Amino acid sequence: MLTIGCHLSKSKGYYHMGQEALSIDANTFQFFSRNPRGGKSKKIDLHDINKFLTLKNKNNIPLILAHSPYTMNACSKKVEIRELANSMISEDLETMEYLPNNLYNFHPGSHTGQGKETGIKQISNMLNNCIKENQTTTILLETMAGKGTEIGSKFEELNDIINQVELNEYLGVCLDTCHVYDGGYDIKNNLDNVIDEFDDIIGLNRLYAIHLNDSVHGLNSHKDRHACIGDGKLGLDAISNIINHPKLKKLPFFLETPNDIDGYKKEIRILKNHYNNK
Ligand code: FE
Ligand code: FE
Ligand code: ZN
Repeated sequence: MLTIGCHLSKSKGYYHMGQEALSIDANTFQFFSRNPRGGKSKKIDLHDINKFLTLKNKNNIPLILAHSPYTMNACSKKVEIRELANSMISEDLETMEYLPNNLYNFHPGSHTGQGKETGIKQISNMLNNCIKENQTTTILLETMAGKGTEIGSKFEELNDIINQVELNEYLGVCLDTCHVYDGGYDIKNNLDNVIDEFDDIIGLNRLYAIHLNDSVHGLNSHKDRHACIGDGKLGLDAISNIINHPKLKKLPFFLETPNDIDGYKKEIRILKNHYNNK
């Protein structure tokens, strides 16, 4: 069975997101862990969480994916921005333990002129500060498009971060199809090679989730503009190959396409129609 969902708004709580996901035939979803503009996260609503966990069990939602705010930057040259990233992730990971055994994705960061090596060290330091032994959450580094001074558009960079983290058994990768294509990995014409390269450099055992997006711009464009499935430079055939690839097809797929809820429902129906259940 295809595990698929889309990005939903958390403003009405976890139970509401669960119901919304089920209403569009999704069996998972992604949400922002907190307001993208930062600031304190909302108080934890245990009643809402418990209602959601019951719904999740009853409807076989295998796991969900939290996404940290885009504004977070663990390798900014400004120390106060790095410290903010540190406190945001620490607090988010504490919250995640109320929803055990799920995934938490973040953008590694932009080094803002400090250079990649320094940036990678700062990201790893932040993770070394925040990861707690025995946490149940797996933290995912997202593959990036390589816009500006972004770190994470090369598999080697993600691997360097992972290698500098002590408790890296709690780390994995979320592969964003728009970002990797923008970053120069030809998943349209050479999907097998890209998967082999990922396996050689990082290891497929680290791949926990896919952000499933088409791309407005072409290979190596470093632009990061998501398109609806079939409307971009990847196209429906390439995306269908991705969800059906034997090494990927069991992973959870999350749509981050420019859609409203009806648009997501339609995309999920199309993708299910293209998925080989065998
Ligand atoms: Fe992202
Ligand atoms: Fe993404
Ligand atoms: Zn993106």
